[in-house]
Amino acid sequence: MRVYNFSAGPAVLPEEVLKEAADEMLDYNGTGMSVMEMSHRSKAYDDIIKTAEKDIRDLMNIPDNYKVLFLQGGASQQFAAVPMNLMKNKKAAYIITGQWAKKAFQEAKLYGEAVDIASSADKTFSYIPDCSDLDIPEDADYVYICENNTIYGTKFKTLPNTKGKTLVADVSSCFLSEPVDVTKYGVIYGGVQKNVGPAGVVIAIIREDLITDDVLPGTPTMLKWKTQADNDSLYNTPPCYGIYICGKVFKWIKKMGGLEAMKAHNEKKAKILYDFLDQSKLFKGTVRPEDRSLMNVPFVTGNEELDAKFVKEAKAAGFENLKGHRTVGGMRASIYNAMPIEGVEKLVAFMKKFEEENG
Ligand SMILES: *Cc1c(COP(=O)(O)O)cnc(C)c1O
Repeated sequence: MRVYNFSAGPAVLPEEVLKEAADEMLDYNGTGMSVMEMSHRSKAYDDIIKTAEKDIRDLMNIPDNYKVLFLQGGASQQFAAVPMNLMKNKKAAYIITGQWAKKAFQEAKLYGEAVDIASSADKTFSYIPDCSDLDIPEDADYVYICENNTIYGTKFKTLPNTKGKTLVADVSSCFLSEPVDVTKYGVIYGGVQKNVGPAGVVIAIIREDLITDDVLPGTPTMLKWKTQADNDSLYNTPPCYGIYICGKVFKWIKKMGGLEAMKAHNEKKAKILYDFLDQSKLFKGTVRPEDRSLMNVPFVTGNEELDAKFVKEAKAAGFENLKGHRTVGGMRASIYNAMPIEGVEKLVAFMKKFEEENG
């Protein structure tokens, strides 16, 4: 039996995709082998990666002057790759809205001067700071954000005013959850294991003029975006199987109606949960309402023992991975694209019952 999996990542994937992959496990499309066993230089694999790229371009409406790279090393590796590739003036501006932004900021400090231009650390990252008129250094090479904060459950609803500087965004936990205007960014990247596929793949969408040989001295060949761009993500062996699953997820999203439909689906699910939290006498959302994420919903009872009891009883009832991040406690329901509405409805019914029994 499958459970309702509210994990923040690796996370729930569409059942249809998993079944299709299972059907093709021993013999992919008449090749007589699994995609796992296939040369990344084969015709069959070339079709898989090219189709995946075409489908994500269609879904996100990615302009021709942006490259799509399929990389490894997790989002965390890009924390270093971003400054290595972009810090021409050795200066960059970071907006600190949670742990992932902070990690990226700290990593950038290894390579140049990273400046913290705004932060929501004063209130445990429970909101997104006003970024309409920030003090951005004149010679900053880029402005960096983590667009959806997986741990704290906040999301930038409007992008910062970068005053003409290149915007770099880590979108790991909101990738393909709603339409985006790619032209507003220089770099969009994310690990796919939150909302798109299995761990092991990072997708980076990068404006072509930012892909150059002018990188910091000592940048490893593998971390230079140009190496990957010049070789269509096949400089070395890519995470073949993971990319294949991502490709299936792209097809699934297209079939569901694309990113507009995904957004409607995600808003509907999030509303069910937030509406319940807003009227509950026991459970409370932790994020300022206007900054709430559609993907990650943290909540608490205000009593640690009761939180633990809830997580335990929820697990026994088939709702998995509701424990909050180890650094913040409480609960967190991650309700990515592949979480069905029914999963959220049943979770809310369970929370109501828990409230009646423990309120
Ligand atoms: C999970 C996560 C990361 C880290 O991803 P890895 O692939 O484990 O390196 C970075 N940023 C965000 C927003 C995340 O949610």
